[in-house]
Amino acid sequence: METYDYIVIGGGSGGIASANRAGMHGAKVLLIEGHKIGGTCVNVGCVPKKVMWQASDMLEMMNRDAKSYGIDVEVKGLDFQGLVERREKYIDFLHTAYHRGLDSNHVTYLEGHAKFVNETTVEVAGIEYTAPNILIATGGHASGMKIPGGEYAIDSNGFFELTELPQKVVVLGAGYIAAELSGVLHGLGAEVHWAYRKERPLRTFDKMLQEGLVEIYEQAGLHLHSRSVAAKIEKHEDEYTVFFENGESLTANCVIFAGGRKANIKGLGLDKTQVALDERGFIKVDKFQNTTQKGIYAIGDVIGKVDLTPVAIAAGRRLSERLFNGQEKLFLDYDLIPTVIFTHPPIATIGLTEEDAWAKYGEQEVKIYQSKFTPMYFALNEHRQKAMMKLVCVGPEEKIVGLHGIGIGVDEMLQGFAVAIKMGATKADFDNTVAIHPTGSEEFVTMR
Ligand SMILES: Cc1cc2nc3c(=O)[nH]c(=O)nc-3n(C[C@H](O)[C@H](O)[C@H](O)COP(=O)(O)OP(=O)(O)OC[C@H]3O[C@@H](n4cnc5c(N)ncnc54)[C@H](O)[C@@H]3O)c2cc1C
Repeated sequence: METYDYIVIGGGSGGIASANRAGMHGAKVLLIEGHKIGGTCVNVGCVPKKVMWQASDMLEMMNRDAKSYGIDVEVKGLDFQGLVERREKYIDFLHTAYHRGLDSNHVTYLEGHAKFVNETTVEVAGIEYTAPNILIATGGHASGMKIPGGEYAIDSNGFFELTELPQKVVVLGAGYIAAELSGVLHGLGAEVHWAYRKERPLRTFDKMLQEGLVEIYEQAGLHLHSRSVAAKIEKHEDEYTVFFENGESLTANCVIFAGGRKANIKGLGLDKTQVALDERGFIKVDKFQNTTQKGIYAIGDVIGKVDLTPVAIAAGRRLSERLFNGQEKLFLDYDLIPTVIFTHPPIATIGLTEEDAWAKYGEQEVKIYQSKFTPMYFALNEHRQKAMMKLVCVGPEEKIVGLHGIGIGVDEMLQGFAVAIKMGATKADFDNTVAIHPTGSEEFVTMR
């Protein structure tokens, strides 16, 4: 049996980051990956998604906006297959870079599916490996569609396997992945029908963002179907018909289901340990990422807390600092995590929604500053896409507890504002900061 200081199960965002940091501090580390190094983010998440978003954004700019600046461009077509091939080549390059990083930190990499034999031992292909510290960073997967014909719908992994742009697509789901894929496909030229259960999509986000996205997507020509719950999917030759509970139906070349996500714990042998799950089936951890089994930790999507790459990375690094660099009190603060949705235009958000702030502090304690404007980018354009921004402030000092924006460029605005908000910035601090003109971000420091 091979003995290590630290075994990491899962070579995705969190696992790689934690393994590298432990290796940097001299620990003897084994990283086990069952599929492709890089995990969800690199192979079927953030990275290929952003590439497709960029392609879609460029096409939209050329088709919609270039002429308003006097630029005479004619888009002759989209080599979708070529785009996919170049995207995958870039991902291969990232795989090599990850391996180089692991090598330089002396992390042993093992390909195969890991399962626990007991609380200090895992088995891969019949060989046992043991360590006093084991990290579960196995991520998550899309939950399938549990309706008749649900197997005809592809998920986000299936989207990244497409080698041809479908002409007409039905996207099902109200979350950020459904919002992103709808926008990407529309920008690339597909006819997109986005259907979701309730009145508006993105239910956990601020109402201004929900309403703003609906307004902008409809203006851009996407077909939005609210209060539409899929009941059945039928296949007829190369077409699929989605039947909804409200009696309506939609026929398309491709159906994408982007619903919820579940923890990757199947076949992991958790029954050989005392690791407990929460009521949603994710691994239960305390604030130090300790599971209910001493010596076993969990981070990233498998704990179902905040499913984002930088969150998994930050938790993984802090854990290794704690275990192998004497930083006994270090943990990740899951409060005020900024995030961007790569819709067209993007959405940026941090902190509490207006409604959450009311619930937490009481309505009288909350002051909202809001702005809706046409970014200068569209000044010469007939298409005058709006931008919307909001600050959620509390108390007499007007501490900023939430910042939300939808509009061109907000994706690159948020990070800096997030630093200020994490440091406890107030509305007065924002007002004291001289604006940068002409930009969209100046709105955040000039709201009245
Ligand atoms: C379509 C999509 C778009 C996204 N876009 C963004 C974005 O723009 N920004 C962002 O921050 N986040 C984004 N995310 C979320 C992000 O990808 C995840 O939060 C992140 O990858 C989680 O990292 P992780 O380390 O927890 O798990 P993962 O990256 O999923 O890695 C887990 C790894 O464990 C392996 N594994 C599982 N079980 C075993 C086992 N028993 N033995 C060995 N190996 C095993 C898997 O093969 C996998 O490689 C997106 C996700 C999706 C699906």
